[in-house]
Amino acid sequence: MTDTFATCSGLAASTFAAPRFEKIALQLSEHGYEVKRNEAWMSGATDRGQFEIAGEEGAIRITLAAKDAKTLFMLRDQILHIVDHADPELLTQFEWSGILPDQGPPANFRLAEVVEVTQPFPHFYRVTLKADNMAHFSDGAMHFRLLLPPQGRTPVWPALDATGRTRFPTGEDQLHNPVYTFVSIDVETGLFAFDVFIHDGGRITEWARGAQVGDTIGMTGPGGGQMPTAQSLTLVGDETALPAIRRILALAAPEVIGHAYIEVGGAEDIQDLVKPKGITVTWLIRGADLGPVETLFALYGDAPMESMPFLWCGAEKSQVQRARKHFRDTIGIGPEQSYFSGYWRKEA
Ligand SMILES: Cc1cc2nc3c(=O)[nH]c(=O)nc-3n(C[C@H](O)[C@H](O)[C@H](O)COP(=O)(O)OP(=O)(O)OC[C@H]3O[C@@H](n4cnc5c(N)ncnc54)[C@H](O)[C@@H]3O)c2cc1C
Repeated sequence: MTDTFATCSGLAASTFAAPRFEKIALQLSEHGYEVKRNEAWMSGATDRGQFEIAGEEGAIRITLAAKDAKTLFMLRDQILHIVDHADPELLTQFEWSGILPDQGPPANFRLAEVVEVTQPFPHFYRVTLKADNMAHFSDGAMHFRLLLPPQGRTPVWPALDATGRTRFPTGEDQLHNPVYTFVSIDVETGLFAFDVFIHDGGRITEWARGAQVGDTIGMTGPGGGQMPTAQSLTLVGDETALPAIRRILALAAPEVIGHAYIEVGGAEDIQDLVKPKGITVTWLIRGADLGPVETLFALYGDAPMESMPFLWCGAEKSQVQRARKHFRDTIGIGPEQSYFSGYWRKEA
């Protein structure tokens, strides 16, 4: 564990047993983490940092390392989630030392206040919120989760339990937690904005429509969606991915070349995008043109892998799954050369 600055470790005395260790390894693998291991030791990394889990004189020791305290907190949450799935009883037995979260709400939770809701395009609301200590959210990650309590109930926000894990309310207090993309974020003032695609039945659409200055909503993150660094890009997406595509194009280096294909419901939602000169933007009108995933297949469905740019695809989940299956599983393009993410799910 090198090049890291924040570490902590948890020791659960008299808990080591081979089947228990197996269960943890299985959960890590089911959650998609690659693990190096032997019978009493395993180690690996997540997007947050590195972990090591070892049997030590009959105890289990978890050692975690990340670039800073806030990332360590999120790494610890990831690993405690795994342990909880493997063996909830074990989770309660760890004694922790090192850099640990303070008591109180989780470090990545914010209560944000509505400052303004505008409608810059017919099918988008732009919501501006304000929250304290937004530096945590400005490390380049593009997305965050809103946390919307059920209507008519007093909000119950996520909290740390005695083991240090973040617990989200369940049952009648369960929070709606969709992902959104930052349009802007100002660490000094705590102001940040995001665009909501207005669609029928959307809980966030309804919330934004009725939101008053001073209303509060929870948020957590940041999460994922790092900028692609390739020199040649093809991006496809619908309105929900438009904020992410817009941000990628705005931040891309001037020499980046490629194409973006963005589906909208009608010409009235077409926007001017800041982008490198070598990128062309084509607006796809729903119902009249091919959809984003169909466009990807039309462009590259039969193309040899060597000729492909970085493929970026954000759209309805089942469509994206079709694209991922073809381009990742059949053609063999790896995650270093592609991004496929279901941005919303069509009800069956
Ligand atoms: C990484 C990422 C970034 C995202 N960024 C944004 C963003 O910046 N702006 C944005 O608007 N969305 C964004 N989304 C998509 C957003 O999270 C989903 O659309 C989410 O379902 C919206 O929640 P809701 O409360 O509006 O709808 P829900 O209450 O979750 O769903 C209600 C109904 O609406 C349907 N529905 C959901 N989304 C759509 C849609 N796009 N079109 C038609 N019907 C729909 C559902 O199938 C359901 O029937 C992003 C998603 C991801 C994964």
